[in-house]
Amino acid sequence: MRILVVEDEKKVANFIKKGLQQEGYAVDMVHDGQEALVNAAAFDYDLLILDLMLPKLAGLEVLREIRSKKRNLPVLVLTAKGAVDDKVAGLDAGADDYLIKPFAFAELSARIRALLRRGTQETPRLRVADLELDTASRQVRRAGQIIDLKMKEYALLEFLLRNAHRAVTRTMIVEHVWDIHFDSISNVVDVHINSLRNKIDKGFDPQLIHTIRGVGYMLSDRPQ
Ligand code: CA
Repeated sequence: MRILVVEDEKKVANFIKKGLQQEGYAVDMVHDGQEALVNAAAFDYDLLILDLMLPKLAGLEVLREIRSKKRNLPVLVLTAKGAVDDKVAGLDAGADDYLIKPFAFAELSARIRALLRRGTQETPRLRVADLELDTASRQVRRAGQIIDLKMKEYALLEFLLRNAHRAVTRTMIVEHVWDIHFDSISNVVDVHINSLRNKIDKGFDPQLIHTIRGVGYMLSDRPQ
């Protein structure tokens, strides 16, 4: 899951970015409203975290502009303490949720998980055959056995599970699992697919991660 964070206060922005990265999200960060529009147009983000008081272009303007083009992008608005009008205006302009600053990271994290769940499944669990990923506890099990994944392996598996039974390209994977600093000439996607296979498929049946020649990968238990 790739998130765009728009926040001009560097300290707050870094606090959010660091916390989200520790939870396995790919995070791009920009510090003003114009950059926000440029990035939102260039990449297919899974979620937007938007501060309302921003230089160059106000958060509400950014929100209206993005909403007119990306109706389904979940948007979490950040507002200063006590700015109730901001909150209402944000929701009116198309925000899905808001958080009042200062906030605890655990609360931000829980709101994000709730927003990412919307429109897909109501349960925090993603499942194919006997493979299960719980987005709330971040636990992965295969045949009841707990599987220990590194952060990027977890993020990759979550993306594959959210797109289960569909072929996904390397470009799609990169866009949702890695951030803007991804090195496009590296084979890092294939390396992570291999390590994920070793953990979730090796010694289990059926094999769930399939290579789709000329396309990319697919996670499925259905015969091809
Ligand atoms: Ca601000």
